[in-house]
Amino acid sequence: MKREKIIEEESRYIIHTYKRAPLVLVKGKGTKVWDSEGKEYLDFLAGIAVNALGHCHPKIVEAIKKQAQTLIHVSNIYYIEPQVRLGKMLARESFGGKSFFCNSGAEANEAAIKLARKYGSKSSPPRWEIITMENSFHGRTLATLTATGEKKYQKGFAPLVPGFKYAPFNDLKAVEKAISPQTVALMVEPLQGEGGINIATPRFLEGLSKLSAEHDLLLIFDEIQCGLGRTGKMFAYQHYGVTPHIMTLAKSLGGGVPIGVMIAAEEVASSFEPGNHASTFGGNPLASAAGIAFLETLSEENLLENTRKMGSYFKTKLDKLKEKYDFIKEVRGRGLMLGVELTFPGKEIVDQCLQKGLLLNCTAEKVLRFLPPLIVGTEEIDQALEILDSVLKTH
Ligand SMILES: *Cc1c(COP(=O)(O)O)cnc(C)c1O
Repeated sequence: MKREKIIEEESRYIIHTYKRAPLVLVKGKGTKVWDSEGKEYLDFLAGIAVNALGHCHPKIVEAIKKQAQTLIHVSNIYYIEPQVRLGKMLARESFGGKSFFCNSGAEANEAAIKLARKYGSKSSPPRWEIITMENSFHGRTLATLTATGEKKYQKGFAPLVPGFKYAPFNDLKAVEKAISPQTVALMVEPLQGEGGINIATPRFLEGLSKLSAEHDLLLIFDEIQCGLGRTGKMFAYQHYGVTPHIMTLAKSLGGGVPIGVMIAAEEVASSFEPGNHASTFGGNPLASAAGIAFLETLSEENLLENTRKMGSYFKTKLDKLKEKYDFIKEVRGRGLMLGVELTFPGKEIVDQCLQKGLLLNCTAEKVLRFLPPLIVGTEEIDQALEILDSVLKTH
């Protein structure tokens, strides 16, 4: 199908929930993608942190192929070896918890919310309230949409799910004030993604951890975007001296294959009993095999180190651009999760970069967001910066 026809038929057959760029991507390899017209793009958005190993990494392709020829899906009524292996790897990399597998970030957070409520139902009197942060993003199902502390996503979907309260991000006093006898959990992204690349201060995360100990609250970290190597450590919370009770992951875990997971410390996980929660597809052999290949490759190719090195190289150069252009308000982020805050909306810059062969996006209206694959090298970063600079020059 021709590009124009695809775009025309999309408007007829697909529900209009996305503001799409006029671009049909048909092929990807490493840090690059190609459109239907054969034009090449440097992909510095990487499926919004999904394609952390780049596009069609041979190890992911091989793992999917091999598993597809053996067993694609069986019900969770039976034992699934790749699922167990992936759970074991995640426990070893994190805080030794147990996993519940699902298919997306929202589902992982939904599981975390349900587990927290189940845990709270055992207190006397029962507790159910969850405090989340302003400018957070936790997903689009009704409960995760309610957890998301951003009005624009919630408009038109009332009544929302009861039992959530919000506090400003990085404001420990406000969180403490919001705690009530019904509160059972605090939920936070250690590095906010959709909210504009906002880093939790050490004082804040450590303070939340202390509050959680004092009030017997579960600490839930949503690392769906910032986890799995993105910040230069396996998990963003590992930059701090804190450990959560529950952590959620999705995006990059399957190297592009849909998979999500909620990991919970044993004493919390045991609140779920057989029959309390389930997912038909969750952790099926195909998705689990992709997850295993992702974690193996991350380690075999030393990608945490590459992320730290490339992240610091990239950020230093972005800081130079900030000196050059006074409309750049701030450059922030960790590893290869970087944001450039402008004094005006960034959409036009994103469109112009796309014209010149660089994919990125803009979040929280004014923050240019860079999430390149963790395999990125200096040459590609230089190329991206050159395009960005040439676009910024015209503003
Ligand atoms: C993307 C994202 C989600 C939602 O994940 P989906 O797979 O789109 O449901 C939740 N939390 C954070 C921090 C995210 O970045």
